[in-house]
Amino acid sequence: MAWFRSSKSRNNTKKELWVKCKKCNSHVFVDEWNKNLKVCPKCNYHEKITACERIQQLFDRNTFKELFSNIVPVDSLNFQDIKGSYRDNIKATKEKTGISEAVVTGTGKLNNKQVVIAVMDFRFMGGSLGSATGERILKAANYAFENNLPYIIFSASGGARMQEGTLSLMQMAKTCAGISRLIKNNIPYISVLTDPTSGGVSASFAMMGDINISEPGALIAFAGRRVIEQTIREKLPDNFQTAEYLCDHGFIDSIVNRKDMKDYLSNVLSYYNQ
Ligand SMILES: [Zn+2]
Repeated sequence: MAWFRSSKSRNNTKKELWVKCKKCNSHVFVDEWNKNLKVCPKCNYHEKITACERIQQLFDRNTFKELFSNIVPVDSLNFQDIKGSYRDNIKATKEKTGISEAVVTGTGKLNNKQVVIAVMDFRFMGGSLGSATGERILKAANYAFENNLPYIIFSASGGARMQEGTLSLMQMAKTCAGISRLIKNNIPYISVLTDPTSGGVSASFAMMGDINISEPGALIAFAGRRVIEQTIREKLPDNFQTAEYLCDHGFIDSIVNRKDMKDYLSNVLSYYNQ
């Protein structure tokens, strides 16, 4: 019969037409979802987006230039776990995501203001902070310093990259050192925490901004909720470790909707006369 389609093709058709919001379960047309910058029009849920999508949303057309893409992950420990080698994992992740590290760094114009940016991508090994991730973030900070340009980092990370052991933990101090130099020289540094920002990233450069802001509903944490509850032997509030909770308690300066992000950032930078 003409109207009959196999379950496979029916699923494919569904996938192309609708997005189901992970928070409120509403069905939204893909076109509407994308037009709304992957934010649910019903409940304001901000879906995770890729580094490339973020860059497209923020920068004035054709102004973004990627820097330091030659810095790539190295398997210095020859690390293996039950899922296989770190080396194979990197290769597969590169193929799947089309990027070569968990952060994309570069420079471009935001409402006609030149800035340096680092955008983390959670798809790349959970946005984990490895040696090359840290090196790109540091190099971008140095570029901002040398050219006297504001620096903006969009974080999205599960924390340090376990496959690199102590080398990954060193990135926390290294990135902070680069950013401290900006702060000491009155070069603006704005940190934007997106869902999720946790572990070594939340404990280093993500909280060092002159202004720390977040997207609505983002999970922001150092240790996991259960670890804290077991340690302090107390039940934590339901909204603990959300951007809203952190904003109420002074850890975050403001919560900014994705559609307002570009104008918010360029407005803030105009206060610095940048
Ligand atoms: Zn929703």
